[in-house]
Amino acid sequence: MLSVLSPGEVKLPDGRSVEFANLDIAATAPCLTTVAETVADLLPFYGSVHRGAGALAQRCTREYDQARETVAEVVGCGPGDHVVFTRNTTDALNLLAHALPLGTTVVTFDAEHHANLLPWRRPVRLPAPSSPDAAVAALDAALTRLTGAGTTARRAGAGAASRGPLLVAVTAAGNVTGELWPVARLAEVAHRHGARIVVDAAQLAPHAPARLPDLGADYLALSGHKMYAPFGAGVLAGRADWLDAAAPYLAGGGASAEVRADFAVRWHTGPARHEAGTPNLLGAVALATACRVLAGEDHAAEQALVARFRVALAALPHVEELRLFDAAAPRVGIVSFTVPGADPDDLGAQLGRRHGIGVRTGLFCAHPLTRRLLADATARIDPAAAPAPAAMRASFGLGTRAEHVDRLVAALAGLA
Ligand code: PLP
Repeated sequence: MLSVLSPGEVKLPDGRSVEFANLDIAATAPCLTTVAETVADLLPFYGSVHRGAGALAQRCTREYDQARETVAEVVGCGPGDHVVFTRNTTDALNLLAHALPLGTTVVTFDAEHHANLLPWRRPVRLPAPSSPDAAVAALDAALTRLTGAGTTARRAGAGAASRGPLLVAVTAAGNVTGELWPVARLAEVAHRHGARIVVDAAQLAPHAPARLPDLGADYLALSGHKMYAPFGAGVLAGRADWLDAAAPYLAGGGASAEVRADFAVRWHTGPARHEAGTPNLLGAVALATACRVLAGEDHAAEQALVARFRVALAALPHVEELRLFDAAAPRVGIVSFTVPGADPDDLGAQLGRRHGIGVRTGLFCAHPLTRRLLADATARIDPAAAPAPAAMRASFGLGTRAEHVDRLVAALAGLA
């Protein structure tokens, strides 16, 4: 199993020292040891990218270009695809929103993380579905309405004479519930209606292969810091044509191929068009390294921990899990829950102070969904209770141990 850097032990008020249990991996994951070593090896040679003639610049340019190739290979890009390095998933989805052809209609679900909810201009937002089948049916119905005829042959992305292109924007794994969305089926529906699909893979990529061909996706977005690769890089990968036709995301050096005396600009096509400014070499190398090593990882241990936690949680009558789909739906290492009557922020602080556990409390940048799930979960456990203003989330991955999970369960049981 891959190893990650550990923050070590923390001292508790009762005098004991315990290993800090970082159960907030879905927000930002710890650094993979291999990533830290790769970056440390490169640091003495750190220099400019695509801008110098010296040995350092040449090496750094090679490393940066190689990082792009590695990511392209791991996410399964084809010859007509680009990999653009961005700051994170939010940036990647904003880049795609910026690059959409005029008149594009975006269809999404209101269960999305804000990164996939807010960048789109006047999207068609479908209500959060109660099952993967319902998601597929809702998308099919919406696209049938939008195209006027479900099976009309429309060339993907080209748009019919009467309207512009269609883009479906969905998450692969929810950051509140960890549930997997039926992305390949949604992609099949999207393509049948002539729409393209972008997948928010921020929470899938750290836990399972996120490959364009397997997902059936036209684009995918991910974040290095959630894939055990700090240093601030993300990726938008996918079809080149819209990206090459769009105005540069940022205007400046690197994106411009030539600026003439009258200041007329000829812009690059390719990833450089949207990567103006000095690139984030260490971020790209860290992300590519993480992509490469995670591709060979089996996540069985993490799945066992999620199951262990969920079984224990289900046995606590005063705690209720938040979920959109059936309890048996497959998921990644994320579990959100509510403890009606308890202040979630206070509880989170107590878990940190008294038990050395880091969880997340709040609405997880998915406010509409989390509020709805809090109301549903509270009604299941105590119909008379008011939903808490925020939820709690534990997330698991590399570096999580069974003892961390058991410590959280014991702390929650102690609240009864
Ligand atoms: N999408 C999902 C599902 C997420 O969980 C997150 C972050 O939590 C994002 C997008 C945004 O990622 P970032 O903050 O790295 O841009």
